[in-house]
Amino acid sequence: MPERIVQPSRRIVVVGGGAAGLEFVTALGNRLGRRNLAEITLIEKTRTHLWKPLLHSVAAGSMDPSEYELNYLAQAHWHHFRFRFGEMTGLARAERLVHVAATRDEEGREITPPRSFPYDTLVIAIGSVTNDFGTPGVAEHAIPLETAEQAARFNRRLVNACIRAHAQPGPVRPGQLHVAIIGAGATGTELAAELYQSVREVVSYGLDRVDPERDVRIVLIEAAERILPALPARISEATLTLLERLGVEVRTGARVSEVTAEGVRLAGGEFIPSELVVWSAGVKAPDALRALDGLEANRLNQLVALPTLQTTRDPDVFAIGDCAAVPWPGHADPVPPRAQAAHQEASHLARQLPRRIAGLPLQPFAYRDFGSLISLGRYTTVGSLMGSLLGKGVFIEGVIAKLMYRSLYKMHERALYGTAATLLGSLRRGLTRRPHPMVKLH
Ligand SMILES: Cc1cc2nc3c(=O)[nH]c(=O)nc-3n(C[C@H](O)[C@H](O)[C@H](O)COP(=O)(O)OP(=O)(O)OC[C@H]3O[C@@H](n4cnc5c(N)ncnc54)[C@H](O)[C@@H]3O)c2cc1C
Repeated sequence: MPERIVQPSRRIVVVGGGAAGLEFVTALGNRLGRRNLAEITLIEKTRTHLWKPLLHSVAAGSMDPSEYELNYLAQAHWHHFRFRFGEMTGLARAERLVHVAATRDEEGREITPPRSFPYDTLVIAIGSVTNDFGTPGVAEHAIPLETAEQAARFNRRLVNACIRAHAQPGPVRPGQLHVAIIGAGATGTELAAELYQSVREVVSYGLDRVDPERDVRIVLIEAAERILPALPARISEATLTLLERLGVEVRTGARVSEVTAEGVRLAGGEFIPSELVVWSAGVKAPDALRALDGLEANRLNQLVALPTLQTTRDPDVFAIGDCAAVPWPGHADPVPPRAQAAHQEASHLARQLPRRIAGLPLQPFAYRDFGSLISLGRYTTVGSLMGSLLGKGVFIEGVIAKLMYRSLYKMHERALYGTAATLLGSLRRGLTRRPHPMVKLH
């Protein structure tokens, strides 16, 4: 075997293997790693990847996450990059080192010691976390939907609450089977629609002392004057009509001032009893980026990036995905924190770094907004598709919208597995789904 020759300028370290980082290392591994033209290392604090837009379905129990999870070690082996397990805790730009904390197992035994990884080019792609805006009680009593574990924890709580209500001697208490979802952006809205169906589904498996019409209440709370405030009004209206038809209670113009173990208090003093509370009211980049060895960050902790995706104060440090504030010409705000932006930035950078290694100048990134789609469980999908001629969104609903919605995930799968494996995977899931219950019951 020929000696693996890696020139020092080609040590590329990527931190964060989410929608952006994982697509990026996979593409770069295939392009450069395969031919030993660069040494590519992914540092990631979890061992498996689940695409975040699937989390509301995991929370509602309508999806088994193990069907969709990807193992980083295996992906690295197949796509010619190295996976290193651990959480980035610091950066030393002068020495070009990424510091990573020790990892431990469930019993507290160390798996990997604290380590430092040298880089020549660093790409930061650590995504976003829930922004609770300092609201009291959120950290203690509300569940965010950031990780597969949190989504699965919410689902377990939901199923346990149904089983408890069925088995207890007395009647169901007020608030016992109520779910308050705070934040009616895409995540909260999609969760509300899926939950309506999945609670009924769980109860239908013999929990007959629970009457969904009488005992279950789903309240969607939004501080803005309409749900889906970031999307066109037509989409909010169509979504609101459907949610109201389902019996989801929608409260707009309602700011939450506190979350307690019993429910949610609004700024006006009203208390909404609810033993299950989900917080999905906005995101920010992780606090660790606020002071990462002098890199420029904005008020949401995002690393401020140039159109080339390089950070403003260090040309060897790039930022992509939710944790990057990438300029969006013609708009006051940067490129929005969305899966389609993460996908486009990852693809762009995977084309640019080989150019940089070849000594060619970097080309600027241009975000293309293809529109927004909202999946309302099994009922319908609504959204707007950006017309390239008019530059305006065209409202779509139903089967076409559903197919477009699915295509976003298929694009992610294709970037990770290739076209043939994506088609085969979809076929296999389609064939094997039927014998299982429609929702997770444990
Ligand atoms: C419930 C939900 C539903 C959504 N639905 C949609 C949708 O329908 N359409 C859409 O366009 N967008 C949607 N989004 C947004 C979309 O998921 C994000 O924009 C996208 O995942 C961003 O990709 P990313 O790679 O920047 O971050 P992520 O996908 O979050 O990946 C970040 C990765 O970094 C890792 N990490 C974090 N910190 C560290 C550290 N210090 N060290 C090492 N690793 C670290 C994390 O474990 C994670 O794997 C949704 C988000 C959520 C939470």
